[in-house]
Amino acid sequence: MEHILEVQDLHTSFLTSSGEVKAVRGVSFTVEKGESIGIVGESGSGKSVTSLSVMQLLAGTGRIVGGSVKLNGRELVGLSAKEMRTIRGKEVAMIFQDPMTSLNPLIPVGEQVGEMLWSHDKALSKAEREARVVDLFQMVRIPEADKRLKSFPHEFSGGMRQRVMIAMALACKPDLLIADEPTTALDVSIQDQILKLMRSVQKEMGMSIMFITHDLGVVAELCSRVLVMYGGLIMEEANIFDIFEQPLHPYTMGLIASIPDLNQDKKKRLQPIIGSPPDMIHPPAGCPFAPRCPYACRICLEELPPVFRAGEGHSSRCWLLDEDAPSTGNPLKNRKEGQP
Ligand code: SF4
Repeated sequence: MEHILEVQDLHTSFLTSSGEVKAVRGVSFTVEKGESIGIVGESGSGKSVTSLSVMQLLAGTGRIVGGSVKLNGRELVGLSAKEMRTIRGKEVAMIFQDPMTSLNPLIPVGEQVGEMLWSHDKALSKAEREARVVDLFQMVRIPEADKRLKSFPHEFSGGMRQRVMIAMALACKPDLLIADEPTTALDVSIQDQILKLMRSVQKEMGMSIMFITHDLGVVAELCSRVLVMYGGLIMEEANIFDIFEQPLHPYTMGLIASIPDLNQDKKKRLQPIIGSPPDMIHPPAGCPFAPRCPYACRICLEELPPVFRAGEGHSSRCWLLDEDAPSTGNPLKNRKEGQP
């Protein structure tokens, strides 16, 4: 397998007047060439900070305080802003949740995408740039692409603006596309169109995708492998089938139980995960999910669980996988013994 991205023991913090917010606390993973990987978790889990750390786009007091981020074998941590500008767009590009905050409202969309092309290839003439932008607009299925170059962002619907953002991200054919909740602000039918579009352009261009979302259902549409984050850590990693069929971490089980199912009994209520995320200025010594976990026992409160390997590409940071873990009430041991 050829790694496009290798993240090793990444630690990212924000300095605030109340103390150091340890948003990412030792995250390691790889993304292979042509692979689509999902990073899932609720707000504050560290998933977006992980992606912004890869892009070196941390706002304010955000700093990578430890670890390594290698893109195509090159270390990104410590590169200057100028060096990163040559990498962003060309090797790695990002799509954000709200295109209105990423597009300049005063510049026609065709010009904005053209600028991205020009920033990486100054030899392109205006006519060549416009022809490339029309191609890109056609690729992302913007109707009457040649007539829309001079339109302003406010003249597009939310879904069409997101297509412009995808066109801009694809402009320089990046090896890795990071999509941070790109469909959250869209209604369900448009969300489906955008996911289908991303799947087809990924196939066409053979790039890798890192999809950041709070929604496991969205990941199922697009990704072959999933990382579940909580409290700044990866809690479970597995392929998409194992995550849904054999989840090992109680947090993953909770996320799956909270997905609406059209076939389920209408009187059955969705099960929310009760409680709130941990305080990341003073993260707990033990498992960060312990206060919300129905299976928490004493060791969970005292010691951070290590990563337990449970099969090919499947791992979980949970004491339930320890061979000395009690079997009474342990959903994993019950499952092995064929109990419900
Ligand atoms: Fe629950 Fe303990 Fe596993 Fe954490 S380590 S998820 S508290 S059982």
